[in-house]
Amino acid sequence: MRAGFPDFRLGNVLATSFTGTLTERHGNAVERIPTPHRLVDWLAANGLAVDSCTTAQLELARELRESIHAASTAAAIQDVLPASAVQIINDCSIQGRAAAILTPEGNQRWRLSSASCVEDALGVIAADAISIIAGERDGKLALCASPTCQAAFFDTSQSRTRKWCDMNTCGNRQKKARFNANRHKNPNSAK
Ligand SMILES: [Zn+2]
Repeated sequence: MRAGFPDFRLGNVLATSFTGTLTERHGNAVERIPTPHRLVDWLAANGLAVDSCTTAQLELARELRESIHAASTAAAIQDVLPASAVQIINDCSIQGRAAAILTPEGNQRWRLSSASCVEDALGVIAADAISIIAGERDGKLALCASPTCQAAFFDTSQSRTRKWCDMNTCGNRQKKARFNANRHKNPNSAK
C-alpha cells in the first residue's frame, strides 16, 4: 500500500471489486484509484499486473468502471441496461487481448499481450462484468442496503439474501447505526 492513498476493498468477484474502487457513491465518495499508479497497484493486487499506466488509460478505466456500475445496478433492479454503458463494456471487452493461461498447479492466470497493456486488463474486467450481468455465473446481482453506498454486488450466498456489498465496512456500519438508534430510543434496554 502506498502511503496517503485510500486502501483497496478486495472482494472475490473481479468486476465488482473494480467498481468498489469508488465507494460511498451516495455519500462522501472515496476514489481509491486517484492516480495512474494506484490503478497499477490495484491491477497487480487482482492478478493483472501491468508495468505502467497513463492518465488516458486511467480515464478509460474509470469510464469502464462507471459503465459496469451503471449496467450492474440496472441489472440488479431488473431495469433496462443503459445503452452507453453496454457500448463501453463491449468496446473494452473487444479491445482486450489477454489470454487465459492454465498453470501447472491447475489454476487460471491471465497473460496480457504486453506488459504495459492496461487495455488487456480492462478487457478481462469487462468480460467478468459481462458474465455476471448476463447471469452466466452462479449468483445474483443486488444493491448494498447502506443508503450512502448502494453499490451493486454479486451475491453468491446460498440463500441469496446478502444485504451489504461488504460485511466489514457497510455491514458493520449499519449494525452499529442500528444499535445506536435503538439505544437512543430505549436508553435502558441496551444490553
Ligand atoms: Zn456497501
